[in-house]
Amino acid sequence: MRAHTAYLRLNTGERYEIVNITDRVEAELSKSGIREGLCLVNSMHITSSVFINDDEKGLHADFLAWVERLAPFARDGYAHNMTGEDNGDAHLKRTIMGREVVVAVTKGRLDFGPWERIFYGEFDGRRDKRVLVKIIGE
Ligand code: ZN
Repeated sequence: MRAHTAYLRLNTGERYEIVNITDRVEAELSKSGIREGLCLVNSMHITSSVFINDDEKGLHADFLAWVERLAPFARDGYAHNMTGEDNGDAHLKRTIMGREVVVAVTKGRLDFGPWERIFYGEFDGRRDKRVLVKIIGE
């Protein structure tokens, strides 16, 4: 069995942003040379997510509006913010949207359903973040 590990770096211009990272994950798969196996992609931060869905701008706006309704930004609205932070909402948004995805690798390609793409969901951006890509197989 072989393994390939990479750390993608992201720094979004906005506090809340959804970024398509599919090409970057595919580039790591290509580098790995692995043809059959599994590809794990996870955010290494507790205020950002990795998820799979459609690459459609309206849907991305819907996701951001939805998590804002469930966990609105509120400087004084969270017990977590009593620590002096202001990102209590971001921790909850991250948990709603998920930490990681696993995609099967078949014949050297990410074995997606028809419209599936991998996204990074940022909920406390404008600073350096990392996404782990771990590919195992042969
Ligand atoms: Zn925090």
